[in-house]
Amino acid sequence: MAKTLQAVRGMNDILPGESSSWQYLEDTLREVVHAYGYQEIRLPLLEKTELFKRSIGEVTDIVEKEMYTFDDRNGDSLTLRPEGTASCVRACMQHGLLHNQVQRLWYAGPMFRHERPQKGRYRQFHQIGIEAFGMDGPDIDAEIIFMSARIWERLGLRDTVLQINSLGTPASREDYRAALVTYLRAHESGLDEDSLRRLQSNPLRILDSKNPDMQALIEAAPQLPDYLDDESRLHFAGLCALLDAAGIAYEVNPRLVRGLDYYSKTVFEWVTDQLGAQGTICAGGRYDGLVEYLGGKPTPAFGFAIGLERLLALLEAGNAKIPVSHPHVYLVLNGQQAVQHGMVFAEQLRSTLPGLRLQTNCGNGSFKSQFKRADRSGAGIALVMGDDEVAAGNVVLKSLRHETEQETLSQQHVAARINEIIDVN
Ligand code: ATP
Ligand code: MG
Repeated sequence: MAKTLQAVRGMNDILPGESSSWQYLEDTLREVVHAYGYQEIRLPLLEKTELFKRSIGEVTDIVEKEMYTFDDRNGDSLTLRPEGTASCVRACMQHGLLHNQVQRLWYAGPMFRHERPQKGRYRQFHQIGIEAFGMDGPDIDAEIIFMSARIWERLGLRDTVLQINSLGTPASREDYRAALVTYLRAHESGLDEDSLRRLQSNPLRILDSKNPDMQALIEAAPQLPDYLDDESRLHFAGLCALLDAAGIAYEVNPRLVRGLDYYSKTVFEWVTDQLGAQGTICAGGRYDGLVEYLGGKPTPAFGFAIGLERLLALLEAGNAKIPVSHPHVYLVLNGQQAVQHGMVFAEQLRSTLPGLRLQTNCGNGSFKSQFKRADRSGAGIALVMGDDEVAAGNVVLKSLRHETEQETLSQQHVAARINEIIDVN
């Protein structure tokens, strides 16, 4: 027999037993971002490769080693999106959404990176992201961080720590870059292969290295905050004041960086120690230079992305109570008349109670086997219809979870009775 086909490594199916957790997460996130007036933007999964090369940067892990890139039938180089910001900026520019207006946007969906699959790191993973355009003050930075904090609170997550830093303006970062390069040159023998290459092209990225052998060297490097200019300091102080006022705790991490020139001022991450090495659940910051860099007018911008697989793992690690969506009612149908009549009765019930989740037994079966299915469905109530009930215009209502007497009801009173017992909305 042929071997059963398997999914691509690092790309996961989300099975029926898992999908209600995902829906709960997505619903909660959607509620929170809508509470701040953000609007959804839906973007293609494929873009021209050039977009990511230009926006994420040639000298990054993503572009150097992680992209799924291929030529399509016309010979155009396309890439499965590794993140959402580039597409979002492209769409906003293409459709004129950034002319004399601000935008508060969110997106969600799968991203693709060819990384080594492990816990919390997959080749297809999911993000929800926020992007705000046209606002240059620390107020929008704070609003977006408040929003992320509210998401953890809604989900009942406590073990998350906010780390912030300022990358300064591009001008102030030039001075820092020079100091960093001098330091790294003096310690060249301690650098790994990636870092040696980046010493030329993108030295700030070296601070972001995950190589444990380099951590001591990175710890001792010159620190960004010592090089900030007045404008950057003021912006950072403004953000800290707003976070303090809202009672949101944070740590300043001077080694938190983004390697590219169009990033500026605020960067932040939410981290947890509950997930091993893959501990960052949300990363974001200000990227005032990107729109101009891609050919638009100078436009301040701020955003973040949350990794949903890691967020879900964190929820599960904390034994959070994730609501599961079972049917409310299972309809047991015994006998030919009952099937004939019961299928239509079920339709009428669904019309009367639009929020009702009603599963009808299909495929016959004895009372015993139908009750087994009813129990397995997770429903709280069974409605039972045999040919006798059909003849009498009745239905029997039986609790599947409590030891209560069963009730015989006239069919037209069933909807009202269900409404009394459970909240179907
Ligand atoms: P890391 O340092 O863990 O590789 P990153 O800096 O590449 O993360 P971002 O590009 O900032 O990550 O993406 C934002 C978030 O998306 C991350 O904080 C993480 O939660 C999630 N994420 C990134 N890559 C993956 C992946 N391969 N699998 C699962 N989640 C991911
Ligand atoms: Mg990465």
